[in-house]
Amino acid sequence: MVKLDTIISLAKRRGFVFQSSEIYGGLNGCWDYGPLGVELLLNIKEAWWKAMTYRDDVEGVDASILMHPRTWEASGHVTQFSDPMIDNKTSKARHRADNLIEDFIDKLKKKNKTDKAAQIEARLAECREPVDFYNIIMDFEIPDPVSGTMDWTEVRNFNLMFKTFVGPVEDSSAVVYLRPESAQGIFVNFKNVLDTSRQKVPFGIAQIGKAFRNEINTKNFLFRTREFEQMEMQFFIKPGSEKDWFDYWKEQRWNWYIALGMKPEKLKWKIHDKLAHYANYAVDIEFEFPFGWGEIEGIHSRTNFDLSAHQEFSGKKMEYVDNVNNERYVPYVIETSGGVSRSFMAFLCNAFDEETVTDDNGKSEVRTVMRFSPKLAPVTVAVFPLVNKDGMPEKAHEIYKDLQRNFKTQYDTSGAIGRRYRRQDEIGTPFCVTIDGQTLEDGTVTVRERDSMKQERIPAQNLNVYLFDKMNQ
Ligand code: ATP
Repeated sequence: MVKLDTIISLAKRRGFVFQSSEIYGGLNGCWDYGPLGVELLLNIKEAWWKAMTYRDDVEGVDASILMHPRTWEASGHVTQFSDPMIDNKTSKARHRADNLIEDFIDKLKKKNKTDKAAQIEARLAECREPVDFYNIIMDFEIPDPVSGTMDWTEVRNFNLMFKTFVGPVEDSSAVVYLRPESAQGIFVNFKNVLDTSRQKVPFGIAQIGKAFRNEINTKNFLFRTREFEQMEMQFFIKPGSEKDWFDYWKEQRWNWYIALGMKPEKLKWKIHDKLAHYANYAVDIEFEFPFGWGEIEGIHSRTNFDLSAHQEFSGKKMEYVDNVNNERYVPYVIETSGGVSRSFMAFLCNAFDEETVTDDNGKSEVRTVMRFSPKLAPVTVAVFPLVNKDGMPEKAHEIYKDLQRNFKTQYDTSGAIGRRYRRQDEIGTPFCVTIDGQTLEDGTVTVRERDSMKQERIPAQNLNVYLFDKMNQ
């Protein structure tokens, strides 16, 4: 299993991800995507957008991040979107109480103290109020991992929404929130999309966009950040049909990750044993990160909780009128809610590989190779002149410019050809094209494939079609 530090250092060294405002010491829980990172991020979003909206029954929207504050009263976020927080008075360390308990359970399991772990797990499943978490910490003497002491404060609920103000006056009537999820931008537009798109239930609305949560602890690189992107889809259905549609979307979403090269053994389902009061089915897709299994996407059957709440708080009807069957109802919803940045990190970890290769002279070396799907790779093709003379650079540059019209392409003339391959392997470029003496004679080039390292000769004029074919396999 690759170490998280290896991924973080490769991500920084090759320009995937930098710490936010690094020159000022960074800002906790925020990250910047560099030249290669932004390409990977865009490719993930494009793959999701195509899979989710290039179909008959799903439309897209792009709602604003700031929304009317009543939205968050209706959705329950103002009163309920909080995590239990506890401070240690000696170390001043602040923890999410549930995570503190979960980490303690993990430690017990590693020491084979499974009975005690199971006891605590059972208590944790029953937790509702801050005091319930506090009692577990006290009853099982869970110490602060930093100071080792039991010098705890009470557990308090901490609302995760970032608050700000619209306009120049900072009073309570001007309070707005940075959205903590993109989903509500979809619910409030349900009627608009229904009335303008000629869709009929069942149909869905998809959106990709930023969300903000003032997480108590940010950790594990991109896994838990304060600013992140989500790709969410709400599928509106007739009440009673939710089990079928839930199963359908579960399958679609799982297959999406697999089709993009995710190793099946790195994914698993987590079935929620504690459902939100309005939900009737809920599962997560988890990925095995270097630090353990973690959610990358949730698929939830949310009944008509959100639309009914918006109907009540706004006074606007959210009903669907089925003229064919002469029925009217507030639709139920199946939601698929994935994190772009968590998927990004999962795809990075999934792609990382190191293998020992032996060159023609029998010399061995370790090559680092990011085995991204060609659809996701930040650079699709690199072009090299074999040597920097005899007309090869001119021809190579011409081919490079031609490919650049369709693909993210890099041009590299420096160092031995083997070194240039290694540089591309490390960023996951699936194809490298080399222009050599024969190219100048018969117009053919070699294409070297990243994973097999096999080379084939093809006419340079077929390169675009060749690459399109490979990308669509
Ligand atoms: P968690 O339990 O890990 O806090 P959640 O269950 O609150 O996550 P959802 O509200 O279901 O998460 O959000 C949907 C998706 O958004 C998650 O599957 C995840 O990919 C992403 N996500 C949520 N919170 C964060 C975060 N702080 N940083 C990065 N991605 C996040």
